[in-house]
Parts: sequence; structure tokens; C-alpha cells
Amino acid sequence: MAVIGIMSAMHEELAAVLAAMPDEQRVRVAGRDFWVGHWHGHDVVAVLSRIGKVAAATTATVLLERFKVDALVFTGAAGGLAPHAQVGDVVVATGLVQHDMDASPLFPRYEVPLYGRARFDTDPALSEALAAAASQVLSDPAQHLGAQAIADFHLLSPRVHQGLIVSGDRFVSTTAESQALQRSLPDALAVEMEGAAVAQVCLDYGVPFAAVRTISDRADDDAHTDFNRFIREVASRYSLAILSQWLMHR
Ligand code: SAH
Repeated sequence: MAVIGIMSAMHEELAAVLAAMPDEQRVRVAGRDFWVGHWHGHDVVAVLSRIGKVAAATTATVLLERFKVDALVFTGAAGGLAPHAQVGDVVVATGLVQHDMDASPLFPRYEVPLYGRARFDTDPALSEALAAAASQVLSDPAQHLGAQAIADFHLLSPRVHQGLIVSGDRFVSTTAESQALQRSLPDALAVEMEGAAVAQVCLDYGVPFAAVRTISDRADDDAHTDFNRFIREVASRYSLAILSQWLMHR
């Protein structure tokens, strides 16, 4: 049976996933706890990604080499860049770019040297299935979130977007930097700190990859506001519900 790797960016997300796995066993590799078990009848290995490109790439490599996962799904939060990517929306990546990669003038800006590309595509079928699960979950937020969180974060009609996510080793939290990213990468829907690195590792191993991110902030001067509460009360609940919905119907 296919083994599914689940990488969560946040402790709260992983805790929710582990609570849904009836039989998980801890295996410690490279200072990380990998949780091997089942969810909705599937073989699953769940792990905290850790933050930043290198840490997440190491975690992904262990999932692929040691645990032989046949598909890898990343869940987490991200800052919204495109004007329509609002807090509480979910972005399912179709492709990812490392926004801090710059080996120019030797290589074009953003291109990863020796890969001949800047953009790492996600697996279309996997991403479609996750987007369908996300649409299902977001069609009725009240089923997954508390009334207070819906009111405080204005989550009355959240939307699912599919498109480009950009990653880099920086928490983008100024309007100036957010605008600079939008100018240089106009297709980017959202920014985070791991996805493009994990996509690159998955390409190396020829394993399907998908990434689902809840928009937690607008990557602007207010980006720190209530971040932890949002992760706890919104993002981690969406991640759990989307993964559960997807695995149930897989
Ligand atoms: N307090 C958190 C740290 C969050 S770091 C903790 O202790 O776990 C930010 C995380 O959210 C990273 O995983 C990153 O991928 C994502 N993220 C959310 N908003 C972001 C933004 N505006 N810029 C970059 N990454 C962002």
C-alpha cells in the first residue's frame, strides 16, 4: 500500500493529525520525531517540517529515503500576496518558486542552478484532490471553527485558490517587502518559508508533492497580529479537516 507523508509546519497542526491517528509509533531520525501509523486506513508518516528551507528539505529527505513515502503533502500557514488571497482563504499550490534564490548573472534570477528551472510544479492529481477537499471544508467553516474565531477573523466566506506559492528564509512582515515581492513575482498568491525547498527534494526523488496553506496574514506591517491564535483556532483546524476529507475519499 502507498505510504503518505504528511509534513505540518506548526506544532498545533501536527498535534491535530496525531490525535486522528489511532496507532502512531514514534521513530526518531535526525533529531526529528516521525510518527508512523494509519489514518482512514492509509499508511501515514506524519512529522513537523521545522521552519525554513534547509530544515524542511532535511525532513523531506528523511521521509523519502528512510520512510519511502510515495506521496508527500505539506500543510501550513502563509502570508497572502495577491490582493484576493485574504486571511482565512486556503491556497493549494500548482507550483513553487524560491523567492530568495539569486545566482544572477550566472543564472537567471530565481532559477535554481543546475535544475534549469525556477518553478517546481506540484502533482496535478494530488493537488486537484486536495483542492476539492479544501472547497468542501471551506463551504461550511462553522463546522470546523468556533463562532468567535469566525467573527474575529472575518471568515464568513473563505475561498480556495490554486496557483503559485513562493518560499524563502524570511518571515515577510513589512508592506514594503510584500509589495516588492508582488512586483517581481506578480503571479505569486502567497509567501511562506518551506514549500519550494520540499518541492525541489520531491522532484529529485520523483515523488508526487502537494502543498496546502491557510492564509494567516497579509505579509504586511500587521503580519504578526494574532498569528498564534490564528494557527490554533483556524489554520490547524482547516489542515486537519482538509487532510481528513482527502484521505477519507482517497
Ligand atoms: N510561531 C511559529 C513560527 C511561525 S514562522 C512557531 O512557533 O511555530 C512562520 C511560519 O508560517 C512558517 O512556517 C512560514 O512558512 C509560514 N508563514 C506564515 N506567514 C508568513 C509570512 N508572512 N512570511 C513568511 N512565512 C510565513
